[in-house]
Amino acid sequence: MSIDFTLTTAQQKLRRNAREFSLEILQPLVKKADEEPDTQKAFVLMKGAYLECYKLGFATGFLPREYGGGGVSNVDLQIVAEEITAVDPGFATVLLVNGLALMPLVWFGSDAQKKKWLVQATSDPRGEYIAGWTVSEPVDDVGGTANFDHPGAHPAGIGLVAKHDKARGEYVLNGQKYWPCNAGGWDLRGADVNVCIVRTDPTKGGREGLSAIIVPRGTAGVSYGDPISKLGHRLCQNNAITFTDCRVPEENLFAIGDGDLVISKAFTWSGPVAAIAAVGVARSAYEFVLQWAKTRRAGGGLPMIHQQAVGYMLADIAMKIEACRAFSWKAAHYLDLFDSEGHAVGAMAKVFCGETLFTTVFRALQVMGVNALDKRHPMEKFLREAAVFPLYDAGNIGMQMRKIWGVMLDENFDPRAIADSRRMDFQKSMESTGALVQTPSGPDVRNAVTQETRKRSSAPVRSA
Ligand SMILES: Cc1cc2nc3c(=O)[nH]c(=O)nc-3n(C[C@H](O)[C@H](O)[C@H](O)COP(=O)(O)OP(=O)(O)OC[C@H]3O[C@@H](n4cnc5c(N)ncnc54)[C@H](O)[C@@H]3O)c2cc1C
Repeated sequence: MSIDFTLTTAQQKLRRNAREFSLEILQPLVKKADEEPDTQKAFVLMKGAYLECYKLGFATGFLPREYGGGGVSNVDLQIVAEEITAVDPGFATVLLVNGLALMPLVWFGSDAQKKKWLVQATSDPRGEYIAGWTVSEPVDDVGGTANFDHPGAHPAGIGLVAKHDKARGEYVLNGQKYWPCNAGGWDLRGADVNVCIVRTDPTKGGREGLSAIIVPRGTAGVSYGDPISKLGHRLCQNNAITFTDCRVPEENLFAIGDGDLVISKAFTWSGPVAAIAAVGVARSAYEFVLQWAKTRRAGGGLPMIHQQAVGYMLADIAMKIEACRAFSWKAAHYLDLFDSEGHAVGAMAKVFCGETLFTTVFRALQVMGVNALDKRHPMEKFLREAAVFPLYDAGNIGMQMRKIWGVMLDENFDPRAIADSRRMDFQKSMESTGALVQTPSGPDVRNAVTQETRKRSSAPVRSA
């Protein structure tokens, strides 16, 4: 039998290290930084914890060993991520985003690019190397995020344009990004590198016209605004970035015409991590209210847990956490088996766990009662953090559910592939499903399910 949820000795050690780091180094910094109104200052308050993570291998451990990474599996990443997110999921996002930025190079980069950029990431003597994953854009007439795979030419979909200046061997970037994490770096003058999704062919749609480009720190023509002040995940830095005639050497370009696949795969790799992050937050909320319910009497003769409604709510919370942990691990295991080609299951775990555990955290507030709203207690923060899960890391409605739907529409879709751990390769033809396409008669999301996709599918097409 290969199914065994017992951690190996090495995994137990990994969990112990992650737990020790989270409780002893991270936790003492969190409250002050979370309450800090200056978002850049809040981010910098976490730098000491980040340096420690770099030393422990949590900042780049997912990169392959041949480039100096730890070769950590997706399952092992789950173990570390649960411990860190149980203390602060915003800080954990800083680490996750290093992966979102650099794993695309592992999958799509040339050997020379991998050697240059990945080795740089893993060998920083200062231990403060940070990478930005620069995809999302302002919701505007030009540019967008959810509809990155829109079949139309510029200005539909991704709006940051990279024009080839062949004579000078450079790409010239113009446009904006909004939301990318880590991108501004520790001093708002740029992360060590920003991996940017750009439109290299403005005449083509999102499935042909996008690429990825590495913009190193110090490149002229990039400016960063104050980081966004957010409801939750306040300890990661989210940036507003403007590119004005920003010139980048052409050898920094990769995944040419496949920027869409980079987006789809990166947000698949991160799916199980976002899922276990929801477990981490829900676990902390659960453990806090369990203790509260066992020790507070609310004017009755017995502690609250003796009231059946409270006991049932606690049982409901506990079982949902267990179910979501199992699903997160399953999805991570599937990605380990198939080099992160698990677009449906990665997205399913992210959507299911984030949404299930958001309501579970709210349920935990109900167990505690009105005192959950008192900022002296951690519950209001747990709720703020949980609210982020369905919205970030490729929003569930605009991106992740569309991805699952696109995979299912394929005529070769195998509904037992996930249960049976069989590989399902993601195809470009699975994209654009439900993209928000304007037609002469008005918006029609179904139109983005292309003729080609419709032909491939015998299933009836539903609107999003
Ligand atoms: C903490 C945090 C960290 C983040 N880190 C990064 C990062 O490192 N890099 C990065 O690039 N981004 C990052 N983001 C942004 C994040 O990844 C978002 O998921 C992304 O911006 C897409 O947002 P959205 O899905 O709301 O899309 P939007 O394009 O803003 O769409 C908004 C809404 O419109 C609706 N909608 C639009 N189109 C459709 C459609 N076709 N079908 C159905 N509904 C539709 C949906 O309701 C959708 O939620 C981060 C965000 C947060 C909060």
